[in-house]
Amino acid sequence: MPEAEVRATVERILAGEVRAAARLIRDLDDGVPEAREILKHLYPKTGRAHIIGITGSPGVGKSTLTDRLIQHLRAQGKTVGVVAVDPTSPFSGGAILGDRIRMQRHATDDGVFIRSLATRGHFGGLTASARAVLTVLDAMGKDYLLVETVGVGQDEVEIAATAYTTLVVTVPGLGDDIQALKAGLLEVADILVVNKADREGAERTYQDLVTMLDLRFARETPPWMPRIYLTQARRDQGVAELLAGIQEHQAYLAQEGGQALRAAQRERVRQEFLELLKEGVFARLVAFLSQDDRLRTILEDILDRRTDPYTASEELIAQTFRPKKSATEE
Ligand code: GDP
Repeated sequence: MPEAEVRATVERILAGEVRAAARLIRDLDDGVPEAREILKHLYPKTGRAHIIGITGSPGVGKSTLTDRLIQHLRAQGKTVGVVAVDPTSPFSGGAILGDRIRMQRHATDDGVFIRSLATRGHFGGLTASARAVLTVLDAMGKDYLLVETVGVGQDEVEIAATAYTTLVVTVPGLGDDIQALKAGLLEVADILVVNKADREGAERTYQDLVTMLDLRFARETPPWMPRIYLTQARRDQGVAELLAGIQEHQAYLAQEGGQALRAAQRERVRQEFLELLKEGVFARLVAFLSQDDRLRTILEDILDRRTDPYTASEELIAQTFRPKKSATEE
């Protein structure tokens, strides 16, 4: 791709052109090298969107809730980008996912851009892909970015957790969810949502969460006390209140010169940078190993006990990252 074309693509995405963005995201997935170059040009223009993470077990109503949040944000005149990450889905692209189709009713709305990720693209892992898509959507000038992840794996939780406002969604009577909350999900939640509040036991779940928060913050009151909302996403009940809560959290982050927002952004950048490093380093090791049958040789050596995996991996890392001698030193 010639330089002029790269620049033209950057301009089109910054102008919010959906087709240019969709094409770039596809190219990123396919591992087109120029796509990554374009990302580098877009990144300096990002950082304005408010990123909302939505996580929770499969079936709690995340997609339905996301769909409702889009609707309410659009009513406020805000533009919205959505990335739905679902590694448990056997389909890529998300087009076949039943409930994603509902979200697609916004597909003809230029103020909304939705992208589902189910399998890792060539860009890297799912998290790297999701972050790349968020960068593109941010550069397009979307006011709000919603990143919806199934709260099953550490990585998926991480993407939602590094949003600026993180929602953890549960439903009445899900004992496993309460365990997951105790095991760490509570730590990442700025807002807890009890969806399907039309169901039996909603009040009880609400009280359980109140108790859990009381215990967690018995000694120290946090600068932001997580809020709890009861919603019925399917009937659009409580969603306006939830959005108000999200926007109060957004205002909290911005107060006092935006220190809290800066801290959230720093954490986000840290995760993003370390992930890219991890991925880049690993790619380099794999490239090195693929030369001259090196991997096979090492594996045979380990198999025959001429070496052990500990020593072999240490040696390989040392070899790969040995500083190159310059000509004058030699
Ligand atoms: P996700 O897997 O977390 O994204 O969940 P979905 O949004 O796909 O919702 C799973 C199912 O729960 C769907 O059949 C929804 O229609 C249903 N659902 C969503 N919100 C509510 C609600 O407030 N009450 C009830 N009873 N069902 C809901």
